[in-house]
Amino acid sequence: MSARAPTVLLEHHLKQLKLPTILREYKTLARICTEERADYPTYLLRLTERELIDRERRSSERRVKAAKFPVMKTLETFDFSAQPSINQPLIRELMAGEYIDNKQNVLLIGNSGTGKSHLATALGMAACAQGRRVRCFTVTGLVTHLLERREERTLERMLKQLERHDLVILDELGYVPFSKAGAELLFEVVSRAYERTSLIVTTNLPFEAWTEVLGSERLTGALLDRLTHRVHIIEANGESYRLKDSKRRLGRARPSKSDKA
Ligand code: ADP
Ligand code: MG
Repeated sequence: MSARAPTVLLEHHLKQLKLPTILREYKTLARICTEERADYPTYLLRLTERELIDRERRSSERRVKAAKFPVMKTLETFDFSAQPSINQPLIRELMAGEYIDNKQNVLLIGNSGTGKSHLATALGMAACAQGRRVRCFTVTGLVTHLLERREERTLERMLKQLERHDLVILDELGYVPFSKAGAELLFEVVSRAYERTSLIVTTNLPFEAWTEVLGSERLTGALLDRLTHRVHIIEANGESYRLKDSKRRLGRARPSKSDKA
């Protein structure tokens, strides 16, 4: 056997076993461990630790991709001082994800531009990092999708797929009314998620206006009943962050009176 054979074979086995981090790092780490006079178990421990850390990172990335967030947003970039109406301690508590274990829902209510979608995404990304299966939709996107699936007679499959998630985000329940069929399908999703999958819903609608959008008082009542049975409500009542931001930019771009003087 040639001197190279063990490493060739080892690398082959590591590939077969799907241990890419060990494959990449075993030589460097062997050198370090020799220098440090670390024993074999320590070497193996360090290698397997690195593989585990990388594996977690890779699967978290996969889950983030599968969740289909329209934009990536994290809590680090959220400025709570810009939106003092938001219950910061509650958001921080929700980031830990216990509400998902308890099959509870989160409702973010408030004006446009107050950071509801940002926070919903940040909660979703945190859930992905915790190993949970997450899927994000705009409410209208989901309803359109469901209607199409019903046409194609694959609705049941899609609903089953949704049920396999730990958290489903329904972003932007807005003022555009649904068709009767659309509202019923949305109800179906909320109803199936009840006590099984956590939902995060963001909306600029006060509860009184939901009937108008969903079309039927009975359906709205039943939907709200399920959605709000075990719910954390976060209200955002401040000024739009976008508006404030563009005002600030405009203010900077325009020379002020004192500049002219
Ligand atoms: P909403 O869903 O309530 O309409 P978004 O979450 O879409 O609002 O926020 C609009 C934009 O402003 C996004 O780019 C978001 O990241 C940003 N934004 C909103 N609130 C904040 C905040 N408090 N800190 C940092 N960025 C914010
Ligand atoms: Mg939004």
